[in-house]
Amino acid sequence: AVVTRFAPSPTGYLHVGGARTALYSWLVAKAQGGEFVLRIEDTDRERSTQPAIDAILEGMNWLGLNWDKGPFYQTQRFDRYQQLIEQLLAEDKAYKCYCSAERLEKMREEQMAAGLKPRYDGHCRDNPNVSGDSYVIRFRNPQQGSVVFDDHIRGRIEFANTELDDLIIARSDGTPTYNFCVVIDDWDMGITHVVRGEDHINNTPRQINILQALGAPVPEYAHVSMILGDDGKKLSKRHGAVSVMQYRDDGYLPEAVINYLARLGWSHGDQEIFSREELIKYFSLDDVNKAASAFNTEKLNWLNQHYMKTLPAEQVAPQLQWQFEQIGVDTSHGPVLTEVVALQAERVKTLKEMAEMSRYFYQSVESFEPTAAKKHLRPVAKEPLQQVKQRLADVNEWQAEAIQQAIHQAAADLDVGMGKVGMPLRVAATGGGNSPSLDVTLALIPQSVVLARIDLALD
Ligand code: GLU
Repeated sequence: AVVTRFAPSPTGYLHVGGARTALYSWLVAKAQGGEFVLRIEDTDRERSTQPAIDAILEGMNWLGLNWDKGPFYQTQRFDRYQQLIEQLLAEDKAYKCYCSAERLEKMREEQMAAGLKPRYDGHCRDNPNVSGDSYVIRFRNPQQGSVVFDDHIRGRIEFANTELDDLIIARSDGTPTYNFCVVIDDWDMGITHVVRGEDHINNTPRQINILQALGAPVPEYAHVSMILGDDGKKLSKRHGAVSVMQYRDDGYLPEAVINYLARLGWSHGDQEIFSREELIKYFSLDDVNKAASAFNTEKLNWLNQHYMKTLPAEQVAPQLQWQFEQIGVDTSHGPVLTEVVALQAERVKTLKEMAEMSRYFYQSVESFEPTAAKKHLRPVAKEPLQQVKQRLADVNEWQAEAIQQAIHQAAADLDVGMGKVGMPLRVAATGGGNSPSLDVTLALIPQSVVLARIDLALD
């Protein structure tokens, strides 16, 4: 059975690149009815933090990337790593290296001066006479042949063993190193497909050699390319949001972010919109693009609007509620949120914008947006407002149709166009010049409130 994993190092939030890697890995598992494992690679105790772990879990949860096993923590598995280091030592597949920092530094400098890539020279590898107080443990990397693997995204990759030196697998304080922990975990957790960032390609041949020394199966690999900003530079804070949770804060739906991330570097014909089920059905690592992908906010906005319009409003409403809370708007009195979603989805790109533009349903209008007021309220609007107020006051059943009729009548009474009545009314009732169609908008505000707002505008 297929088992995949996402293995973040908890040194920061879940960023867009990590989230995409997690999504691809998750999709591989789901597509095959397999399992998805979450593993926290927290061996770097200095840089790993609990807030980062929480942020990663929060991001995964928000995106709906549920894991079947874990989270596992590498720091809780040290006994296991220790045991296998002992085993490799006993089998002479690893050895103690007593080289001092000074010696290694000197070696490095000499190699660099000779134009060589620095690599451990094997001084302690087969030297029974070395000793000292302190040692690290190195893996005895094969010295002949090469390591070959068929990367799902990048094709056949080959590394000559002469390019790989004897990797340190335990530090002088006995703690295992990163590459070693990854190998043991992938083995113990039965990982069949390793999906990760291309920055790990150079680790792969080393990890394969260790797996083989342990007699462990070698998983399949897929190294995902980088994400660039729209300017072609590596994606960073300069380009706006890079943390997944920032997208929630900015008013994006997880459905839109998932669809967006899936398409960022993967395609299936020219289809753009994918439900989660479709992604699971169509996604294949072999269709992932090898080239770096450029982030495109316009496209994300487009997808977000699509999902705001097409998802059941009940599914969108909780996220809108959250946005209202962020800007201190109490929605306990006023229209149900699903109606606001239905009304506004067409007009905005994000839920944050939607909340901002829907305050007047829940908060009193105390002042009018200056430009709109200047243009539509003063001094031209006195008569139209008085007239439409009268007509609206006469409405018995406060519903869109009757409201629409009242506005028409007021315009007819004064023998002016609809806009001459509608715009002042819009500014009076919503505080600004930008709202959905007046009939449906006003229908969501109590009649008495609308009349009082007109009075305020007339004031
Ligand atoms: N912990 C690594 C990272 O955050 C991932 C290692 C892996 O997937 O093998 O980049």
